[in-house]
Amino acid sequence: MTPKTAVIIGASHAAAQLSASLRQEGWDGDILVVGDEAYLPYQHPPLSKTFLSGDKTVADLYIRPAAFYEKNNIRFRQARVTAINRAQQSLTLDDGTSLAYDKLALCLGARVRKAGLPGEQLAGVHYLRTIADVQGIQPDVVAGKRAVIIGGGYIGLETAASLRKQGMEVVVLEMADRILQRVTAPALSAFYSRIHREEGVSIHTGVSVKALVGDTRVERVVCADGSEFPADLVIIGVGVVPNVELAQAAGLDVDNGITVDEFACTNDPAIVAAGDCANHFNAIYQRRMRLESVPNAGDQAKAAAASMCGVKKAYQSLPWFWSDQYDLKLQIAGLSQGYDRVVFRGDQANSRSFAAFYFQGARLIAADCINRPQEFMLSKKIILDNIVIEPGRLVDESVAVKDLLG
Ligand code: NAP
Repeated sequence: MTPKTAVIIGASHAAAQLSASLRQEGWDGDILVVGDEAYLPYQHPPLSKTFLSGDKTVADLYIRPAAFYEKNNIRFRQARVTAINRAQQSLTLDDGTSLAYDKLALCLGARVRKAGLPGEQLAGVHYLRTIADVQGIQPDVVAGKRAVIIGGGYIGLETAASLRKQGMEVVVLEMADRILQRVTAPALSAFYSRIHREEGVSIHTGVSVKALVGDTRVERVVCADGSEFPADLVIIGVGVVPNVELAQAAGLDVDNGITVDEFACTNDPAIVAAGDCANHFNAIYQRRMRLESVPNAGDQAKAAAASMCGVKKAYQSLPWFWSDQYDLKLQIAGLSQGYDRVVFRGDQANSRSFAAFYFQGARLIAADCINRPQEFMLSKKIILDNIVIEPGRLVDESVAVKDLLG
């Protein structure tokens, strides 16, 4: 039998896992990863933290060392794929060449949403998604200078914490009436607002930025209400959009991401998709969703690799997320959207350690745990195993976490 060729587009978190999982599942043909950056797949979470601060180098970011890919005969090629020709099972690359595949994986990720503000082209204005973006920001990080961050999501807040640590004056401008609105419940927004203020960050919500103004370098940020903020550095973190255009142009189903089933399969049996670019049906929450998270990329990639090898392994992981800011480790189990009651274990108003449990009726659907790893592990178990637990029991700190299910 002729050895088969698996091509993975996008050298992302999902690609790092998918290529390794293909070998584990017994794929003995070629594996080629095509990516448009000059790097092996690298970890994105440290970009806004230890990589921005200079504590980590590019080599530290690699998910797996070059030797791993060599040993497993996983090859890389730096290029942009410009078209998927499904009828011929081939790809067109930006250098004009074409590549044949037997199985194709789309690990295309997401790209920053552009704010489209006048003055975005000024020196000192940056987005933050890639190694190159951070390398562009680093020379502008100067203690005592003023940074304005547009967007109070994870990128904005983690970057605020990093820049503060490096001695910058930091202002965060958020359009919504609270920070982290898209990803967390109001209690967490209030908590992080307090922490950032305690750390010296100035947070303004309900603020719509109108323009970035300066001669050649940015000098100030002008808002629709007429307020102005002086700035030596501006970082824009207003979300991401999934990279679906290649799939769409090839006629694959797309709806807020490339539509896949629980096995990461698209509507073409030769093509799978995984990670930020994929929209899957989640068996736990009984609805379709597109998740922007590292654990999702890894777990979906495992299901995708199995499918490419003809093995059915459903993706059915509980969504989870984390964020590191200052001395705080936030771990989120599940999705809190649709909760009707939230209870707290610990003091969210005054301390830096607590867990918020979100219930829908009698069912725990999510938990936000700040410096509470035990509560995080417990919550994952309760949600996944559908355990019924009284909210009053969870908040009772006289019962140790390990005894809560006893
Ligand atoms: P995000 O979570 O979507 O947050 C963007 C924030 O910017 C939102 O609060 C949004 O408000 C706000 N915004 C949008 N337009 C604005 C404007 N014109 N002016 C001011 N604020 C504006 O996205 P992100 O923080 O940019 O992060 C990008 C991706 O990386 C996300 O997938 C994120 O989850 C991921 N990431 C994850 C982590 C982590 O898990 N620790 C860390 C960093 C990044 P609205 O909600 O009102 O639109």
